[in-house]
Amino acid sequence: MSKKHLVKDPVCGRRMSKNKAFITIQHRGEQYYLCCPKCQSEFEKAPEKYIQHQK
Ligand SMILES: [Zn+2]
Repeated sequence: MSKKHLVKDPVCGRRMSKNKAFITIQHRGEQYYLCCPKCQSEFEKAPEKYIQHQK
């Protein structure tokens, strides 16, 4: 069985598999996965607001 790689939408917090993401945005060398156009526009307005500096 392969592992599922879930990613988290930083705006709404929804978890999804990578291939279900609406769009992938690169910001400062990191990739962020957004679930919908609304989350995309929110993220693009203020990416720093949604980025959590943790691993
Ligand atoms: Zn979202």
